Amino acid sequence: MSIPPTNLSYPNIAKGANNWQGLIETYRSYLPVSKATPVVTLLEGNTPLIPVPGIAAKIGRGVKVYVKYDGLNPTGSFKDRGMTMAISKAKEEGAKAVICASTGNTSAAAAAYARRADMKAFVVIPDGYVALGKLAQALLYGAEVIAINGNFDDALDIVRQLSENYPVTLVNSVNPYRLQGQKTAAFEVVDVLGDAPDWLCIPVGNAGNISAYWMGFTEYHQAGKCARLPKMMGFQAAGAAPLVSGEPVKNPDTLATAIRIGNPANWHKAIAVREASGGEFNPVTDTEILDAYRLLASEEGVFCEPASAASVAGLLKVKEQVPDNATVVCVLTGNGLKDPDCAVKHSQNQLKQGIPNDLEKVAKVMGF
Ligand SMILES: *Cc1c(COP(=O)(O)O)cnc(C)c1O
Repeated sequence: MSIPPTNLSYPNIAKGANNWQGLIETYRSYLPVSKATPVVTLLEGNTPLIPVPGIAAKIGRGVKVYVKYDGLNPTGSFKDRGMTMAISKAKEEGAKAVICASTGNTSAAAAAYARRADMKAFVVIPDGYVALGKLAQALLYGAEVIAINGNFDDALDIVRQLSENYPVTLVNSVNPYRLQGQKTAAFEVVDVLGDAPDWLCIPVGNAGNISAYWMGFTEYHQAGKCARLPKMMGFQAAGAAPLVSGEPVKNPDTLATAIRIGNPANWHKAIAVREASGGEFNPVTDTEILDAYRLLASEEGVFCEPASAASVAGLLKVKEQVPDNATVVCVLTGNGLKDPDCAVKHSQNQLKQGIPNDLEKVAKVMGF
């Protein structure tokens, strides 16, 4: 398979049409790419920043809240931002195969971009703790999926060693190109708002994304693109909150499987972000995560996966601390369709089953 051209040109594109060419082309001058880099892209990025007035109303005091809906990336999570960079650089360096440990979304992204670059993808996942949609993606994209009897932290240990001993490139967020790609989400937020928000609320697992956002905001600040820097508010699931307690968690536990991580790979970076931004790490319980998950869908029409809802759950938990009239962005890291089991299991809205095939009976069920 050939790599798509770096500069896409649609001969008959209408004036005013969205001619987005992916995040590497858009932010090329901020990224470690050169003319020699083969850009492997699925046109990721350019995701919407959606106002959520129902959530803002729960805080009041003139606070404005937006969600950065990164579930609309090509494989349904922000991991695509990092993967377009990591796979393009791996391709440039002549790699034939990539490997990652994953709670699911990294494997879906690695599998898709690796296939696009005609590389083999190996993914190591914790058996039984990957949401169905993510597993389905990795399989269909053609990755070699290896489920181990261990958690994410164990999987990461294994793939690190494999990449040191075998000809496979590691594309976890310890790969520096991942964070380079992911920082573009901060650029997009500033490009839309005209400045950085006062607060950025974000779910934290391995802490790659919070580190990447901070890198993006500080680089844009230095370039004069924004006047301020946000307070970085990271939220972890209460059963997997090592950055809150200050110690690794041996058996992390939460239904938000994307952040079920006991020993974050980017621990030191995360602490540095908290210090530099005057931010905080706080825990949110699974109950609070599910409340925010349902609220986003039923009040705002935005379906995200449970881990993503941790950002909104966290904002609502610490809402008294939000300054009057502040602008807050909550990052929604992944699409709700990734984890349909969770949605069906935890929806308070029930399927009306066993209704006869009869007009009047259906109308009656409808309340007419
Ligand atoms: C990977 C992921 C996270 C956690 O991001 P980190 O960079 O590991 O902190 C959160 N939510 C979703 C949906 C993810 O896929």
